[in-house]
Amino acid sequence: MTDHTPPRLTTTAGAPVSDNQNSLTMGRSGPVALQDWQLIEKLAHQNRERIPERVVHAKGWGAFGTLTVTNDVTRYSRAKIFETVGKKTDLLIRFSTVAGELGAADAERDVRGFAIKFYTEEGNWDLVGNNTPVFFIRDPLKFPDFIHTQKRHPVSHLRSPTAMWDFWSLSPESLHQVTILFSDRGLPVAPQYMNGYGSHTYSFWNADGERFWVKFHFKTLQGHRHYTNAEAGDVIAESRESYQEELFGGIAAGRFPRWKMQVQVVAEADVAKFDFDPFDLTKVWPHALAPLEDVGVVELNRNAENYFAEIEQAAFSPSNMVPGIGASPDRMLQARIFSYADAHRYRLGTHYEALPVNAPKCPVHHYHKDGAMRFFGGRTGNPDAYYEPNSFGGAVEDASVAEPPLTIEGSMTRYDHRLGTDDFRQPRALFELFDAGEKARLFANVAAAMGGVPEFIVERQLALFAKVHPDYAAGVRAALAAA
Ligand code: NDP
Repeated sequence: MTDHTPPRLTTTAGAPVSDNQNSLTMGRSGPVALQDWQLIEKLAHQNRERIPERVVHAKGWGAFGTLTVTNDVTRYSRAKIFETVGKKTDLLIRFSTVAGELGAADAERDVRGFAIKFYTEEGNWDLVGNNTPVFFIRDPLKFPDFIHTQKRHPVSHLRSPTAMWDFWSLSPESLHQVTILFSDRGLPVAPQYMNGYGSHTYSFWNADGERFWVKFHFKTLQGHRHYTNAEAGDVIAESRESYQEELFGGIAAGRFPRWKMQVQVVAEADVAKFDFDPFDLTKVWPHALAPLEDVGVVELNRNAENYFAEIEQAAFSPSNMVPGIGASPDRMLQARIFSYADAHRYRLGTHYEALPVNAPKCPVHHYHKDGAMRFFGGRTGNPDAYYEPNSFGGAVEDASVAEPPLTIEGSMTRYDHRLGTDDFRQPRALFELFDAGEKARLFANVAAAMGGVPEFIVERQLALFAKVHPDYAAGVRAALAAA
């Protein structure tokens, strides 16, 4: 019960509504009148309550918070967000699973999205990461194919382990991410208990115009917690919304999760020290090669007031970069720079960046015009300044924020991304980090996911595991025999 006088119910046009219980009918049991505008408005709105869900990362959980800078990285980046130690910047994080639809259970084995929008004073910087430092593929031409194997079969409308392992066993570059996915970290208890990684190589550039290559890391300060498959089954039997309950409920109760933000930084010319492609998304940068350096602490401390408006409509894109932070030649990053913004234009509309959750908290001056649902004026100070260049005081470019030039050598052709790369060494380094219990669970998790997969595909995948480590293949083979 509330103790205040409720406001008057109105139509969307603001007119008071006289009756929200009874339709307007001809006679007590007669048909409803078309003139019952309130009825028609309610039904029409209900028909439009859904927008297309994301093709990937549909199921998500998010909250607002801050980044507090704890260490000086201004020698690497001129980005305002890092300007002074102690500086706080507002942010939004949306976590997600990749394959499941909007109604999927939260506690499913899958990669988790870890997308951050920093509302900086020189524009929004989006870091659209995952809870894993690598990905299944390194060439975006394979992305739609890969995602099709994670989604439903066109005939059975069921997930297809055959499609998944067929694709993976034909794509050795997936071994690293497959090993992470089926390890303990492939099924976190809740978003608070996992790391985030920018995954791609990005660039930093400083006030002197020097470029550095950079990897971003967000280390959970709650500690890592994971479910086994059996534990997750029990959780899902009780609740399909365990992540929302943990994240939303925890923040509502004042338990604010935190992550340590760190970077690995390499000077532009120093990529020569890598004996692999530092822009390959299936590889990490070993810490021995590029040590972690502290940047700050991320804290989530405010739930959204409206889930749909602020989390479902949150639009993250790696195209949102700010002066001092740039892209890299990573093929997958290049494709995401196009694809994410394109997905939002499709899902949310032309002016998705103007929605309150996506709108920068700094002045915005551009010359884009009109389009569906344009609801902002775009005042330039002079009504005649609606194109550029103009003589009427409209917004102008600022050459001081130009990124330093990048020299790229080579001819344009379709280079075979599988040639001359070692897809086994880094998964092997990970496998060797696992203790006996972790290895046993990895074997069992892989075997459990291979149910119904044709023998020739299983054998092809076992041959790949053997190239990582003979114990890996033997362990999975034994787990398959025991299943
Ligand atoms: P290091 O020993 O320096 O780093 C190991 C990293 O692996 C740490 O960041 C640690 O993350 C993480 N890690 C530790 N235990 C596990 C586990 N059981 N499951 C998953 N990750 C774990 O070695 P390298 O830098 O040479 O990396 C070795 C391997 O570690 C890589 O091939 C990669 O598979 C994995 N890894 C590497 C990362 C990197 O950026 N170099 C990042 C994450 C994983 P934490 O600090 O959270 O415990």
